[in-house]
Amino acid sequence: MHMQTSGTEKIGVVFKKNLGHYDVRHDNTVTTCVPSARLWKAFSETLHSETGRVVTAVEEKHMDPIAVGDRVRFITAEDETGMILEVQPRRNILARGSAKPMPGAHAFEQVIAANLDQVVPVFAAANPAPRWHLLDRILVTAESYEIPSHIVITKVDLVAGTRQDRELKEGIERYRDIGYPITQTSALTGEGIEAVRQALKGRRSVLVGKSGVGKSSLLNCLEPGLGLRVKAVNNATGKGRHTTTHLEMFPLASGGEIIDTPGVREFAIQGLEPEDIAYFFPEIAPFLGRCRFGMSCQHDDEPGCAIKAAVMDGAISPYRYQSFLQLRSDM
Ligand code: GDP
Repeated sequence: MHMQTSGTEKIGVVFKKNLGHYDVRHDNTVTTCVPSARLWKAFSETLHSETGRVVTAVEEKHMDPIAVGDRVRFITAEDETGMILEVQPRRNILARGSAKPMPGAHAFEQVIAANLDQVVPVFAAANPAPRWHLLDRILVTAESYEIPSHIVITKVDLVAGTRQDRELKEGIERYRDIGYPITQTSALTGEGIEAVRQALKGRRSVLVGKSGVGKSSLLNCLEPGLGLRVKAVNNATGKGRHTTTHLEMFPLASGGEIIDTPGVREFAIQGLEPEDIAYFFPEIAPFLGRCRFGMSCQHDDEPGCAIKAAVMDGAISPYRYQSFLQLRSDM
């Protein structure tokens, strides 16, 4: 594509992508860009050489060299549209296996977002009740990408003084003991909102939680209108929420950005082998290799298993141990 270009090349950050167009921010100005043909060609060549096979045109249509959060070099045309020339090296990514574009095709990695500071799993204290195993899946995924997590529990007002409150406290302690920061909030009473604001401040966070857990309410408490804007993006894409073709990052007034991921399907663990899973449970990892049968121990029925001994000693919670076994067998 030829275009009349004006001015110099700039570096910006991709905040939004939608059907081959990307909104790039630079100095508070947003430019809608397309990728250059050269960028596309280079990406396509890398895919071919990395996968060592021919990538079909259909597959290619589902792939994207540019992700939300990418730092890109771009030029602006006279009509204010832009062209992305280069994606700068990524600090990290969060990716998922694609849905298979057609029967018989291979799943491939789709980058959801790049250059992230933290994953923020959001669960409700009740309505719906927290699904701890799902939380473990999210945490393992984040660990595998070497991205820290900060857990947020919403709607704590619903369980105050009830039996569920005790169960919740036990759950929370389990993750605190491992070292995960965890904040309890209520959009109703305002509890924990300031703590979440501090946790998000100046960082790029990916929110992960099913619809209904209170993400919009939480974001509206943090910043008026923010939750509504996030929800509008999610709803606009409807079923397409489960694709990464439409994704948007929102700047926070306090600095930093948030990205809402459509759902938890992204956290179907992929790209990992069952035997790697234990490494991504931070409290289990230190015991690996200390079993009587060394690295061949399955941590199941073997005698002299260091991990099972650690469960007995209370260094690993029985719940997390079971969750680990289940996660591994689900793979
Ligand atoms: P989202 O789908 O994750 O964005 O969830 P919403 O923010 O739309 O909230 C879902 C439902 O939970 C709504 O009926 C909210 O009024 C309710 N809700 C959200 N936060 C709280 C809270 O802190 N306490 C209580 N009691 N209800 C809440």
